[in-house]
Amino acid sequence: MARRKKIYEGKGKILYEGPEPGTIVQYFKDDATAFNAQKKDVIDGKGVLNNRLSEFFMTGLNNIGVPTHFIRRLNMREQLVRSCEIIPLEIIVRNYAAGSLSTRLGIEEGTPLPRPIVEYCYKDDKLGDPLVTEEHIAAFGWASQQDMDDILSLSLRVNDFLSGVMMAVGIRLVDFKIECGRVYDGDFQRLVVADEISPDSCRLWDIETGQKLDKDVFRRDLGNLTDAYTEVARRLGVLPKNTMQMPKPTLIN
Ligand code: C5P
Repeated sequence: MARRKKIYEGKGKILYEGPEPGTIVQYFKDDATAFNAQKKDVIDGKGVLNNRLSEFFMTGLNNIGVPTHFIRRLNMREQLVRSCEIIPLEIIVRNYAAGSLSTRLGIEEGTPLPRPIVEYCYKDDKLGDPLVTEEHIAAFGWASQQDMDDILSLSLRVNDFLSGVMMAVGIRLVDFKIECGRVYDGDFQRLVVADEISPDSCRLWDIETGQKLDKDVFRRDLGNLTDAYTEVARRLGVLPKNTMQMPKPTLIN
């Protein structure tokens, strides 16, 4: 049996060299972390759910012409993605006040924002992904002006798409985080939505009850995280029956 080459292991995923040049296999772990990994746990089935949900969102985006790195799902925990040069920014889009915005500006959680607010954090675990301005991004060369224009347009399109999809199943998209990467086609460079889109990286509240169906359930000890993610998957119709009974494959590396 050939051993796969591990490229990177992060908090929630492992990246392996893909079967063809320019591809990567993205493996979704069950590990849950919060507050820059100060809080950790293993949540059975989280990786399976996030793999499915990210497939669902990325496929939907590809279908409406918002380019993503997603190629296809390979199995319960893995998907094939296009390799790209990740821009070292976490792009956060907010529709309602919550989390760090509420803490920073003293705005009550759940307050609707006058328009979607886009924020940028510098991707660096050691620094705790600090909030940065476009001045920092330009001065330190993390992204060009063209990249920033593309990032803004991509993130607002993702926001429109995700808000609509979630609204249709009775869920409010409060905020979310995406990452973008550069792919090169000959002399041309374009940006794609990369990483994952899942309840790990979004705030999702039930429209009727306000119940949290995202990683805040883990961050704030509000109940069972798998139940919350399963509810999102169930409403979106992406969860095949008996998924949770599938045994966890052994990771060989
Ligand atoms: O913590 P904060 O309120 O800034 O998070 C805003 C949104 O970005 C939330 O949906 C959160 O899940 C997501 N996020 C993330 N990864 C981070 C920071 C925030 O997915 N490192």
